[in-house]
Amino acid sequence: MSSSSSRQRICVLGSTGSVGTSTLDVLARHPERYEVFALSAMSRVEELAAQCLRYRPRYAVLPEAGLAARLRGLLREQKGCATEVLEGAAALSEIATHPEVDAVMAAIVGAAGLAPCLAAARAGKKLMLANKEAIVVGGALFMQAVEQGGATLLPVDSEHSAIFQCLPEDRASWHERIDHIVLTASGGPFRQRDPATLADVTLEQAVAHPNWVMGRKISIDSATMMNKALEVIEARWLFNLAPEQLKVVIHPQSIIHSMVVCRDRSVLAQLGTPDMRVPIAYALSFPERIESGAEPLDFLAKPTLSFEEADARRFPGLFLSWQALRAAEGATAVLNAANEEAVAAFAERRLRFDHICRVNRQTLEELHPEAGECASVEGLLNLDARARRHALRLIEGLAG
Ligand code: NDP
Ligand code: MG
Repeated sequence: MSSSSSRQRICVLGSTGSVGTSTLDVLARHPERYEVFALSAMSRVEELAAQCLRYRPRYAVLPEAGLAARLRGLLREQKGCATEVLEGAAALSEIATHPEVDAVMAAIVGAAGLAPCLAAARAGKKLMLANKEAIVVGGALFMQAVEQGGATLLPVDSEHSAIFQCLPEDRASWHERIDHIVLTASGGPFRQRDPATLADVTLEQAVAHPNWVMGRKISIDSATMMNKALEVIEARWLFNLAPEQLKVVIHPQSIIHSMVVCRDRSVLAQLGTPDMRVPIAYALSFPERIESGAEPLDFLAKPTLSFEEADARRFPGLFLSWQALRAAEGATAVLNAANEEAVAAFAERRLRFDHICRVNRQTLEELHPEAGECASVEGLLNLDARARRHALRLIEGLAG
């Protein structure tokens, strides 16, 4: 692409986060291809203001009105910044569906990203999905929205991008090609920790991931391996696979990002340095490839690639994914809601680390989705709210 009129207009939801800033880094490397059209954040107003001054988007969104007013004030001081500041959660869907937007980076954390993702899918956008909780909650409804809207759904999660890169463009051939997939997991900071000591894990220990620098929630999810549980569910929808076709192996080096085991037993893998700019660049440029800014893989620096089985005593949360996938529709939304509340409680030091998976399992087993609750976004958000209330009661009981 050469002329500025053919540049793709990008909306970045969650632009102040880890994936959001990596996305802006990749976009900035290709000003001839991409234009930053809209940005959004939740709390980091100063960071969003700095992004507006640097990338000059048409719109910036903050759900909370008071923070939006503060952003307007900050931008007014900078003469010449014409960014219009929108407020309210509905404005996220507004920018994600704006007729001039070509592609949406979904990098909000949590179920809060569901509504704008569904809106972008229904509007037929190119939807680059990092926000795994949205597809875990949305499930069949999410995939229907993509199909009915004629959207292009592109994975950004590194494991799912790896699988996607190993598959041909023709989605219709995936089913006959794939025997199963293997999602790799680093094992996080507690891969070798004695399971008997998991009750003593501190917040600082939990967020210190050995291979990736990420937002707080996904870092805690990596420590419990609930992140991998959510990814198993995400893969079920992205690649239309049965629970028994989804496997996980621990690969501490994070060099192989995931693998496809074909019907003929040939194994396809995607490798690279652990840098989110690689899957982000691939989602942006698919089916082409562009420079991402990542370092090339140095094969001799990490000459050993090893594999281990995930231990159910150390990582009980991982196995809840298959349990939820085999339960009634909506169970994955229940699991996600419980986990969001349990992680928040752990981050506020109201819940023990080893109790996160206990809350998740108990909520999954005790709270049952009602018929029809998964048929609309309102129903799903209602189920999400019910599951959160249930989880909160369990959390209070465990704290007392
Ligand atoms: P961060 O916490 O770093 O960023 C989250 C972004 O979403 C921030 O811009 C934040 O705004 C915004 N946000 C938070 N809550 C809300 C809300 N309720 N409504 C609207 N916006 C909100 O998260 P990450 O970038 O680490 O992760 C984003 C998503 O990508 C997650 O779903 C994660 O699982 C997934 N992912 C992340 C990877 C990584 O390497 N970080 C890798 C693979 C997947 P503010 O900062 O202003 O509060
Ligand atoms: Mg991942």
